[in-house]
Amino acid sequence: MSDRPRANSISFKGIEENYGTAKAIVKSAGDLVLVQRGVIRAAVIRCPSGCGDDIVINLDSRTGPAWRLYKNRKGITLYPSVWRDTGCGSHFIVWHNKIFWCDYEYLEDEEEIGLDDRVAQTLTRTLTHYCDLAEDLGETPWSVMLSCRRLKKRGLAMEGAGKMKGAFALADAT
Ligand SMILES: [Zn+2]
Repeated sequence: MSDRPRANSISFKGIEENYGTAKAIVKSAGDLVLVQRGVIRAAVIRCPSGCGDDIVINLDSRTGPAWRLYKNRKGITLYPSVWRDTGCGSHFIVWHNKIFWCDYEYLEDEEEIGLDDRVAQTLTRTLTHYCDLAEDLGETPWSVMLSCRRLKKRGLAMEGAGKMKGAFALADAT
């Protein structure tokens, strides 16, 4: 166990062909190495909690349930959240190289310029999950989730309830 404080950002350490090398490279909380042989297989992360464990995130849907990786100029995003069911039990979101701890109540960021307008134009009368909206827009799901919530606050969007939570539609216009 380490008494270092938990990390609030990802430090991308490159791409390797095998897990052994990847694990040898991650040293500090939040270090991340991608494993790629042909296709991207996984992300190896030194647990950002500071517990010292390495977490392997499967990114290859052919081998089972997989996270989605988004890698763009803003950094690395993983979807959905990472929730360890062993070890330290950490639950966190990786978004644009930042780590958001899910024991914080809110995920917040500055509005991305123009995103709310684009999301509003994509919404229809049918409830659509923000993940699918993100896919259509070529944006990360976390960005679109926040945008949907802002639109909801402004009375421009409505959110489903129960199983449809996270699905948004245009609010009824008068
Ligand atoms: Zn941990």
